[in-house]
Amino acid sequence: MKKYSLVKKYIQPYIFIYFLAFLFEILSSALQMLIPIILGTTIDSIIGSEEPTNKIMISFINFLGGRDLVRERLGIIAAAFILISFSIALLNFLRPYMSGKATYTISKGIRDSIYAKISSLSIKDMASITTGDMLQRASSDITKFETMVSTTMMALMGNISYIVISLITLFTINFKLSLISVSLLPILFIGTFLFDRSVVKVFDEFEESEANLTTIVQENLSSYKVVRAFFKQKHEINKFEEASMDLANKDYKIMAYFAYFWSIAEFLCFLQIALIAIFGVIMHRSGSVSVGEFTAVFAVALNMVWVVLGTGRMLSRFTRVTVAIRRFDEVLEMDSEDLDSGVSDIDIKGEINFDKVSFSYDEAHDAIKDLSFTIEAGKTLGVLGLTGSGKSTLVSLIPRLMEYNGSIKVDGAELNTISKRKIRENTSIILQEPYLFNKTIKENIAYRWPDASDEEIIKAAKIADIHDDIMNFPDGYDTIVGEKGVSLSGGQKQRLAIARTILVHTPIIIFDDALSAVDTQTDINIRTALSQNEKAQTKIIISHRISTLMNADKIIVMKRGKKIQEGTHDELIREDGLYKTIYEIQNIEVD
Ligand code: ATP
Ligand code: MG
Repeated sequence: MKKYSLVKKYIQPYIFIYFLAFLFEILSSALQMLIPIILGTTIDSIIGSEEPTNKIMISFINFLGGRDLVRERLGIIAAAFILISFSIALLNFLRPYMSGKATYTISKGIRDSIYAKISSLSIKDMASITTGDMLQRASSDITKFETMVSTTMMALMGNISYIVISLITLFTINFKLSLISVSLLPILFIGTFLFDRSVVKVFDEFEESEANLTTIVQENLSSYKVVRAFFKQKHEINKFEEASMDLANKDYKIMAYFAYFWSIAEFLCFLQIALIAIFGVIMHRSGSVSVGEFTAVFAVALNMVWVVLGTGRMLSRFTRVTVAIRRFDEVLEMDSEDLDSGVSDIDIKGEINFDKVSFSYDEAHDAIKDLSFTIEAGKTLGVLGLTGSGKSTLVSLIPRLMEYNGSIKVDGAELNTISKRKIRENTSIILQEPYLFNKTIKENIAYRWPDASDEEIIKAAKIADIHDDIMNFPDGYDTIVGEKGVSLSGGQKQRLAIARTILVHTPIIIFDDALSAVDTQTDINIRTALSQNEKAQTKIIISHRISTLMNADKIIVMKRGKKIQEGTHDELIREDGLYKTIYEIQNIEVD
């Protein structure tokens, strides 16, 4: 089973515990068989008048001290009953306790490594998976696995051992009567197995509908502003009602399936029981079975019928655990991003040199094509370009979030020979769409450096021009942001993201349109504060706003992945081109 090798690693250490649990299961089944035997013995040796012919019963009576003694001392029987019941209870406690503990430890191991694996995937691999699918693997598949292993697998083994031991007991008590007692069981077993196979399909459909409904609710909750602004509540409600109806239909289908199944299955069970009773009476009349034996067979068979019914269902359901295991393995087999291979002992100052760099997300077209430019360490590069021209793509190549073609040199070393850890530690990027965690403002700012002192945090907030806003929040730096706390404006979010990024000084810092949501004055404040920073920093500033870029040492203009212009602000406003056009439009706006 090489296929499941990765998951097997987590299960292997617990094989012995499962084996022990299985032994307990067998022991408990064997003890349970004693109950009908005692019952039969009691009837034949105390209530009834006839001698039992069955060997097990006779030896059991002899074990207790003979028929006469048992008759005199009923307490012995009672004590045996209590002792056996107690032992069964103890075993029934120990077995799930042990196997359950093993199962939860195993699934914790799998869950943790799936999470670690997801966190270690490269951006490219992350983009190739869907969130819903991963969520399912890391949560509901794990739950399925837990239920399967701790409950179904154990119960299945228990049931099988119970059935085997019951059969042995039955046939030693009375062969002919036992044959009749199990005559309908094969039909019951196969029928249940087949039924469960088909009902699993209906369950899958149900789960699909359920997931669909969840997605609708989720989408609706996060898009409530759009829904209300566009006055689409009615449309959303209809969409929900449709999905809800679909779910109700599936629910009804399942209910109908089970109604048919149970009525037929129960009919078969009771028919089986009736057969035993009828043939038992006939056989007793002809003297081939004692009342005690009949009672014992009846009691064993009565239980077994229901166990057989359950086993058929479990067996078919058990195949589902292999599906879950395969899905875990698929995730665990994915390659983690290698952060450490490559050069790490270089001192990064921040000189960046692009030479004929190309990059494409798909084979169809290049997001970046033949791009060349140089920024000296400590200087500022401005990047202007229409939307979709490749600006974000360009800057994401620098922290090695994606692989490039051509050559990018950082301080003279080819970028893809520098370890990812090294370059990422030395680069900060303020993303176009900043993400804030559902935590306090302080924790959000200190995300990259959790041990930062309050002074450091406040200093970063002041540079990002957000300190005064924070002081106006109800709990200052301890105010929680996001769903459970205050809602921030777009500009506040951006400035908080800037504070988070500049808290740790890195030789290279990238602003991906990170000043777009703040007003011009705030923009100037932030850039002035940043330039007063005592340590040199290479800055790449992407912006649509000329005033943000005009002081840069060099500006490049992008169009459809290519550089179409390069120069300083003064040079660019003198040449005809996109830069000048945008400058003129924005100048008119300002005037
Ligand atoms: P904007 O000013 O709107 O932020 P941009 O200049 O930053 O635009 P990019 O995000 O770099 O543009 O996108 C460049 C091109 O690459 C676009 O055509 C875009 O559709 C495509 N692209 C961007 N991200 C991906 C991705 N993850 N997968 C596939 N194509 C992408
Ligand atoms: Mg962008």
